[in-house]
Amino acid sequence: MQKKIKLTNSYESKHSSKREKDLFYSLCDKNPNQIKTKDFKNALLKSGLKSNDNRLYDLFQKLDSLGDEIYFKDFIKIISSSELLVEKALRGELALPDFSDFSKSVDEMYDDVIKNKSGELASYIPPLAKVDPNQFGISIVTIDGQIYQRGDCKVDFSLQSMCKPFNYCFALEKFGLELVHKHVGQEPSGRQFNDLTLLTRSLVGKSNKKLTRIPFNPMINAGAIMTAGLINSDDTYEKRLNFVKKQYGKLIGWSANSKFDSKFPRFNKDVAREENFTGYNNLAIGYLLMATGNLPGKKNKLKKDLNTNKNEFDFYIEPTVVDALKLYFSICSLEMTATEVAMAAATLANNGVCPVSQSRVLNQKTVRDCLPILQSSGMYDASGAFFQEVGLPAKSGVGGGVFLVVPQLMGICIFSPRLDEQGNSVRGIEIAKRITSKYLVHIFDGAMTNADRVDPRIPISKWRANSCGEAIWAASIGDIRTLERLASEQKDLSIGNSDMRTPLHLAAAEGQLKVVQFLLEQGVKPVPDRWGGYGYFDAKNNNHK
Ligand code: GLN
Repeated sequence: MQKKIKLTNSYESKHSSKREKDLFYSLCDKNPNQIKTKDFKNALLKSGLKSNDNRLYDLFQKLDSLGDEIYFKDFIKIISSSELLVEKALRGELALPDFSDFSKSVDEMYDDVIKNKSGELASYIPPLAKVDPNQFGISIVTIDGQIYQRGDCKVDFSLQSMCKPFNYCFALEKFGLELVHKHVGQEPSGRQFNDLTLLTRSLVGKSNKKLTRIPFNPMINAGAIMTAGLINSDDTYEKRLNFVKKQYGKLIGWSANSKFDSKFPRFNKDVAREENFTGYNNLAIGYLLMATGNLPGKKNKLKKDLNTNKNEFDFYIEPTVVDALKLYFSICSLEMTATEVAMAAATLANNGVCPVSQSRVLNQKTVRDCLPILQSSGMYDASGAFFQEVGLPAKSGVGGGVFLVVPQLMGICIFSPRLDEQGNSVRGIEIAKRITSKYLVHIFDGAMTNADRVDPRIPISKWRANSCGEAIWAASIGDIRTLERLASEQKDLSIGNSDMRTPLHLAAAEGQLKVVQFLLEQGVKPVPDRWGGYGYFDAKNNNHK
């Protein structure tokens, strides 16, 4: 039986505004009094929002309980719980306004890049050496919670080094920038991720100048073991790991009663055990951090418990080193899906607020402090070249994941386990490069325009209209400078408006002789407008000789 929501007239008149009516009419087909439930659902899903999005869950439930048609009074009641989001979705005002076009382009990239089978699996531990090398997934989450998924997006994979920026954020939240950076630097290392070299820094103290040695940055192993060592260091291992898992849970929009896909982060003990068995290099780093005074030792605290009286020599193993490594290995061994990692990246893109839970997980300042380090050091010793070409903060892990942050727009995660020499996912890098070559998302694209690249934040129709509108307007008032700029930006100066009136028509109609000459010199060919008229007739009709 159909449930009907009862609404009084006063409710309707008090609450319904022109905005709601406009939204309703935008969905009407022939009958202006009702809309089809199916059309409403499809419009929301086409915008990239999902039916299990917590913000829309009630709305979709209500839609399912209604019949095939919805009347206006029901419509306003249904959308009341998430009106702003619905309004943005129906008006094409979400972060990616042309979500379907965008999805199609990424689908094409996926279909092309899947052919690339180069690279090798990480082989230093058996669990990573035996994953299916052909897996490939791309997931993109915008700051408004639109979600694109393709391929192996729901497969669990090992976070590995992708955990490093988040651990850094947790340490920053607890201790602040200054204190954290007494233990770890902010400089690119230019070395492999597991290198033992430390950065030498001189500290000018009260009386003398002292040299200290710290890891280059939090994105290489030495720096990440250091930041792991800082996270709630007075707690037990269990409590620390649980704290980290909970934080990751918040980053990906998990909560006990959430309807959304995110699950609580999974800890793969086998991976952690293998990291421990083979991680001699990391053990060496741990002791190096101890020797350089970066990890605070516990020996003095524990002295009374140490067995110093007996005849035997009890070898002392520094618990701080063990604790830092145990936590580091465990966090590297957390598993998530590409969609969950893309959500965590979208939380960074959204200044620390998770797009689907709308909860603040990290302070804005923490995110702003983290992204530049990701940008300069996130892709190991390929960070410089990667940033130059792709222009986005990104982090990879030897589990085959790469995530990218497009600030104020979206988080992207690519999972494909074959790696290049630097330990970065081959297909991950390839997709990242293609995204920047198609879209104006490189951080330094700001002042640059290019005829074949589009800004995904702007609807394509508006993007085209903007440049053709500007050229037409400049041509009609004789503004050659603007036209020169548009030409140098490789904008097409022969594009017309909806009546196919081009800059050449307008320049001729207004008697802007210099502009006409300029356009012809640029190779613009006279074309007829909607009525078959050429610029020449415009000039004649307006008595311009
Ligand atoms: N667990 C790995 C290590 O510490 C992580 C390295 C990586 O993803 N680059 O060696």
